[in-house]
Parts: sequence; C-alpha cells; structure tokens
Amino acid sequence: MPPATKAADRVDFLARLCRERGLVLTPQRRAILRVVLALDDHPTADMVHDALRRRRLRISRATVFRTLEAFARIGALTKASHPGSAARFDARREPHHHLVCTRCERVIDFTDRRFDSLPLPDTRDLGFAATGLQVQVSGMCRDCEQEDP
Ligand SMILES: [Zn+2]
Ligand SMILES: [Zn+2]
Repeated sequence: MPPATKAADRVDFLARLCRERGLVLTPQRRAILRVVLALDDHPTADMVHDALRRRRLRISRATVFRTLEAFARIGALTKASHPGSAARFDARREPHHHLVCTRCERVIDFTDRRFDSLPLPDTRDLGFAATGLQVQVSGMCRDCEQEDP
C-alpha cells in the first residue's frame, strides 16, 4: 500500500475514534492530526506547531498543546513523557517500544515480541493501576555517536 493511502487511512481511523469518544474533529484539529501522522517522529507540541507554520497553517501554540492533550486523553495518540524533556506524541497504533537517544532525545520505534509479552507488574500496593507497558531503551543514535564527545 502506498504511504499516502496509509496516512489517509490512519486519519480516517483516528477521525472515527474522535467521533466515538465525543471529540469534535474541527478542521484545525484535523490539520494537527495530519501533521502528527506526517511527522512520524514522536514530535513534541512545539515540533507540531513549527510544522503547521511551515505549512502556513496558523494555529496558536496553546491550541496545538490543548489539542494534542485532548487526542492523548481519548487514546488517539499516546503521550510519552520522560523526566526533564517535553512530552512526545505518538500516532503509531501497533505495539512497539522506543529507543531514546540520551543526547539529542530522538525517539526511534522498534518492535520486539519478547517485550510485547512482558507481564504488567502488580502495582496495586503502590496505589497505581497499571494499564500498559512500553519499553524504553536508552542509548545513542548513530548521528550522535559519530559526533565528537
Ligand atoms: Zn542522538
Ligand atoms: Zn513510538
């Protein structure tokens, strides 16, 4: 399937999800969703805002933030937050895990069946209801590794 069709399918899928969860998909929100899918690199809200500006779509930074949070709340996007860095938004639906570069904070998707089947820990004693699990592997991306320390 050509990538363009796939992206359109994903927008449709997410549009349906929004409808089901009662989030009105305004043209602005649809534009934001398109950009997140197009970036495909776990963008931060600022990266999404910049990409919208490059496409001459004037949507305020605050609106982009609020919209991404709303998408995350209904499960249309997942939100990964790591201490000390901005939240990254992920439109990928399939189970996957993340390689996180400790220098440039790039996030690379990878799949590993073994990690998919890790059991959820019992965290009830900690007052926490575990609902999902995604493995984050720290390290350095190729670009950063080739740079001088
Ligand atoms: Zn890097
Ligand atoms: Zn991801």
